[in-house]
Amino acid sequence: MPAALDPLPGASTSATTATTATTAPERDAAECGRVGEALLALSPALDAFVRFDTPDRTVRERDVWLPRLDVALPDAGAGLDTVLDELALAIDQGCRVSHPGFSGFITTGATTSAVASATAAAVAGGQRYLLHAFNTLETVGLRWLAEACGVPAGWEGVFSGGGSIANLLALGAARQWTFEQRGVDVAQSGLPAGVRTRVYTSTEAHRTIHRSGAVLGLGRDAVREIPTDSRQRIDVRALDAALTEDAAEGVVPLAVVGIAGTTNTGAIDPLDDVVEVARRHGAWVHVDGAYGLLAAADPDVRPLMSAVADADSAIVDPHKWLATGVGVAATYVRHDGVLTRAFAEGDAAYLEGSFSLDLSGVASQFDSMGTPWADMGVELSAPPRGVHVWAVLREIGLDGLRARIARDNGYAREVTRLATEHPRLEALTLPDLSVACFRYRPQRGVGDGLDALTGRLLQRLRRETRFAPSSTVVGGALAIRPCYINPRTTLDDVRGLVDAVVGLGDDETARA
Ligand SMILES: *Cc1c(COP(=O)(O)O)cnc(C)c1O
Repeated sequence: MPAALDPLPGASTSATTATTATTAPERDAAECGRVGEALLALSPALDAFVRFDTPDRTVRERDVWLPRLDVALPDAGAGLDTVLDELALAIDQGCRVSHPGFSGFITTGATTSAVASATAAAVAGGQRYLLHAFNTLETVGLRWLAEACGVPAGWEGVFSGGGSIANLLALGAARQWTFEQRGVDVAQSGLPAGVRTRVYTSTEAHRTIHRSGAVLGLGRDAVREIPTDSRQRIDVRALDAALTEDAAEGVVPLAVVGIAGTTNTGAIDPLDDVVEVARRHGAWVHVDGAYGLLAAADPDVRPLMSAVADADSAIVDPHKWLATGVGVAATYVRHDGVLTRAFAEGDAAYLEGSFSLDLSGVASQFDSMGTPWADMGVELSAPPRGVHVWAVLREIGLDGLRARIARDNGYAREVTRLATEHPRLEALTLPDLSVACFRYRPQRGVGDGLDALTGRLLQRLRRETRFAPSSTVVGGALAIRPCYINPRTTLDDVRGLVDAVVGLGDDETARA
């Protein structure tokens, strides 16, 4: 529990200095200072959380914490000290995706420099617009990230809240550009009637590609899924054939989406070939690198990703492998101005005229919006995000990032090796990146029940061990699927998961 704070001299939530114009108290009920003190009060709970030395009690202890947090909307505010007490409780029962044993989905929590940058941004980075240090760090973060990922320096970039929006922006740019080639400004006049368009991507594509199709007025059905090879990579011949077939029917190819690290298995599409085929058909090439593109920082992986430089757009999620904490994605587009033509908010009385008309230079941070990020995406008010990318890369450098990528990819290979060598385990993929897929396979009684057994093992892992991978389906088989991006995970955690699967699997088959 945080220590109670001394009230500021003269502060009182019941101050009721009436003026002639209003009967409201002059002093706001919210504490506006004492930031450091408040953070200090939370620090024991924060430090205890990231030690992860207690098991997950969140569901078991729901009757303890839920009634304290889920209360009726109060008329009388409880004050900052109560909020801090209750925040400490929420932290204690918080979201444990940063736990070293958690390897589910593709997510992890912020490391400490990103916690610090989030705090700094919350206090002093009120908006990403206007001319101040956080506006500058937006540019620096985009530049550093592009360099780490092999995205060419001249591309325009913009941060958004996640890969979902980042993909939407890239495909929105593709839609704008594709129709501009045909003399139509879609952002202004909408999709022309009677034109069929399609987006091409593999069956392994993230569903946010389909959702982008829905939002952009193309429809989910406009996403044509191309089969993959035995290693979950897009079948380039099938892609070529699909584009040829559709062209004969007058379908306009809006984009071909290559995946730099699929969400299911971490497969990297053959991006060189994808670019070559798409170019032949005159289609925009988008690289969905939400998860994997940061792996281009590792010289061993870079050649598999270098074709991103020949694409038209790419996205990457620093909130995945860079562990900045959620809410940080970047979209990059090769062609100047397309994002703005697709997404500009438009002139508005509440903006135009608010800035300096003195063209000789700016003198106040309020003289200019700075880089107009708001016109390159779908958010006006938005928190600065470059600061988190900057903070983590400033802290660990490219060397630290390369080491993280190499270590995590090595973890996936280690799981695969152990599963291949163990008589009762089976590896279901050969990892390109840091996702491994495997299952327990008893020697006797192998039959249709394998998926059900895998499902039981996944449940028992979550409930009885400190390991929480997630699952996916590979070639029709339910797989245990750890994805290693968590900077806290060690080789012990990696081997521990495999041992736990063997132990629980043996126990299940002994009972059967
Ligand atoms: C995670 C992911 C997304 C979606 O990103 P969010 O940040 O979760 O919105 C899109 N594409 C791929 C390949 C992903 O792995």
